[in-house]
Amino acid sequence: MNLTWRTQNGISVSDTHSLIIYLLIILIFVVLSATVGRRAGCHALCWMAPFMVIGRRIRNVLAWPSLRLGTEKENCIQCGSCTKACQMSIEVMDLVQIDKIETQDCILCGSCIDACQKKVIRFAFSSGK
Ligand code: SF4
Ligand code: SF4
Repeated sequence: MNLTWRTQNGISVSDTHSLIIYLLIILIFVVLSATVGRRAGCHALCWMAPFMVIGRRIRNVLAWPSLRLGTEKENCIQCGSCTKACQMSIEVMDLVQIDKIETQDCILCGSCIDACQKKVIRFAFSSGK
């Protein structure tokens, strides 16, 4: 792997204007990450997110069978590992406690499933009813 391929002195922008735009974009993401949390772009910038949220709501209202998260909250020891592992900064442990893990921000990445030693969270194909 050549990390400096097609760059000048290790920098891939060729003029000052490009460098300013590049730094501005970096700054936007740094500020967003500090204020919104992990995957700030998904939360606050992604133009596809509204369509995905609407689609998810329609799915839930019509109770279409689909991939979801399921829980067995009686096995939860409230260690917080699921919340810590969540890519989308979702308070997973709190949702497990109220037995309502479905949330529009969840991208079904499975990180909380992997993080849970007690196998409280699992993937389930169901209508959610
Ligand atoms: S990682 Fe598992 S046991 Fe720990 S809080 Fe989350 S659901 Fe509960
Ligand atoms: S599946 Fe991923 S995004 Fe969804 S709650 Fe678990 S860790 Fe968070």
